[in-house]
Amino acid sequence: NINPLNVLAIDVEPGPDARVLPLTVGLADHLFDHDGQITKREIRAITLSALAPRRGELLWDIGAGSGSIGIEWMLSHPSLRAIAIEADPIRAARIGRNAAACGVPGLVVVEGSAPKALARLDTPDAIFIGGGGSDAGVLNAAIKALRAGGRLVANAVTLEMETLLLARHVSLGGDLTRINISRASPVGSMQAWRPAMPVTQWSWVK
Ligand code: SAH
Repeated sequence: NINPLNVLAIDVEPGPDARVLPLTVGLADHLFDHDGQITKREIRAITLSALAPRRGELLWDIGAGSGSIGIEWMLSHPSLRAIAIEADPIRAARIGRNAAACGVPGLVVVEGSAPKALARLDTPDAIFIGGGGSDAGVLNAAIKALRAGGRLVANAVTLEMETLLLARHVSLGGDLTRINISRASPVGSMQAWRPAMPVTQWSWVK
């Protein structure tokens, strides 16, 4: 399902302001317009690796925020499709703009709250839960909707959501990973590690 706009872009001479995107996932955060609610670059790269897109597959990006996960999924191969589900209307509108600016205008944006907004969407091959997951209904709906053999990846920052993921890991298996990223930043004239909030990731094949 190649979007005609992508094909067109190949023939267009890039202008002086053209953005040249690297081919790997884990794009710099500043390439996405966002309000702070974005899966940071290193976590995003690990998350896309766990989502492991295969040719022609469909992703649900639940609690899509800036849309960065769905956008990088679609950038991985022109055959890939993604639906971004986002409850906040301002963010939902931003996802559409980010997708267009990154050359994947075919990203479908559903403005609405999961699990209700998930009803009647095409069956996904992979699901990412980046928001709304502390509502057990979202996790249950995602597990149910995923096709057999599909991948589910959920990232938790809060203890409440981490608790839900731990319970699922016990009952269903999969991989539970804790990701800690620290950045060097100035402390007076010297530097120290500033840790980001750790992310617990549950990754599971149905
Ligand atoms: N992965 C995103 C960041 C997600 S932040 C990115 O890289 O940009 C979590 C998002 O989930 C927020 O934008 C919040 O509005 C959204 N959210 C929270 N609960 C939700 C729900 N029940 N349904 C849909 N979106 C939800």
